[in-house]
Amino acid sequence: MSFKFKNHHFITTIEELKQYLPLSKDEEKVIKEIHKIHPMKITKYYLSLINPKDEKDPIKKMIIPSKGELDLEGDYDASCESSNVKTVGLQHKYPQTALILTTNRCTAYCRHCFRKRLAGLPSNEVVRRFKESIDYVRNHKEIDNIILSGGDALALTSEVLEKFFEEISTIPHVKYIRIASRVPVVFPERINKGHKLIKMVKKFTKKKRICLVTHFNHPREITKESVRAVKRFLDAGATAYNQTVLLKGVNDKADILAELWNKLIEVGVLPYYLFQCRPVKRVKKHFSVSLEKGVKIFSDAKKKTHGNIICRRIKYCMSHAEGKAEIIGIIGKDIYFKWHQNKNQNDFESFFKRRLKKDAIWLDDLH
Ligand code: SF4
Repeated sequence: MSFKFKNHHFITTIEELKQYLPLSKDEEKVIKEIHKIHPMKITKYYLSLINPKDEKDPIKKMIIPSKGELDLEGDYDASCESSNVKTVGLQHKYPQTALILTTNRCTAYCRHCFRKRLAGLPSNEVVRRFKESIDYVRNHKEIDNIILSGGDALALTSEVLEKFFEEISTIPHVKYIRIASRVPVVFPERINKGHKLIKMVKKFTKKKRICLVTHFNHPREITKESVRAVKRFLDAGATAYNQTVLLKGVNDKADILAELWNKLIEVGVLPYYLFQCRPVKRVKKHFSVSLEKGVKIFSDAKKKTHGNIICRRIKYCMSHAEGKAEIIGIIGKDIYFKWHQNKNQNDFESFFKRRLKKDAIWLDDLH
């Protein structure tokens, strides 16, 4: 049986939202203003995680539009993704990896989204003819893995996903498929045992390694429902990894990150990146933490994690236009980086440093 996305799962208007969450007149005004430009969509499940009495609730900050989102500093395509597009909807930035924007839809719209330019909006960046992407990958034998992203790949119906999986399975040099999704976090009921999605994962894990890449940002998102959703993927033979974004007012404390990573490991999800929040319009001012603070938070958090190899492997990274820069640390007046990935293969794995500036949040702020 295929999962049916129904309107009653989601809240998309202020009128509905007010029935669940008290809103001041000012909040209403701001939501209305933002809603004209960027959609609001919240699952009832995720809304239930908000503490309505706490104005600074971190879950609320991630999902309810607020004043900070009116700030236009930044760039809608901060990592210059457009420069990596090879066919409509397919990005090829690093030799081994193809990234496919499978949809512009999500099951909930996160206010910190770095693809705000397309999430829930009309977009010509999303794949139109999947076959075209497949042909590109087939002709590029260096590609050994594909990321199905968006929007949220699990916002697609299982029938559409199955077609994608079938096509990808015919390419011998592709060894694994990554499904990038926040669905386990915001809409876990989508991952139901009896539904087609899990049966499909079970079937295709026999052909390709399938990896669920989740996006848990706060320990309060780890609930019995989200754990059950992830476990269904694991039981079907997939692996699960997590990427967290460092967000001001959400998880910019060492204790919170350490608790998040420790809990993730306990439930079988392997945390591997802490991402610096990209300087995206309507996100930058609202969510970014300075590099100086980020280095300290990351290092303190790691010291509080369980003493296992998985925690030791977590890296603090920045998805820059040039590549993925690992943020190593600060010595004196300098901040040190290493190219964990780079568009230019000659720079791959190389170290570099920049003079640190107090409020810098991105590599381009440093000279
Ligand atoms: S689910 Fe992912 S793509 Fe969709 S709004 Fe959230 S962060 Fe953006």
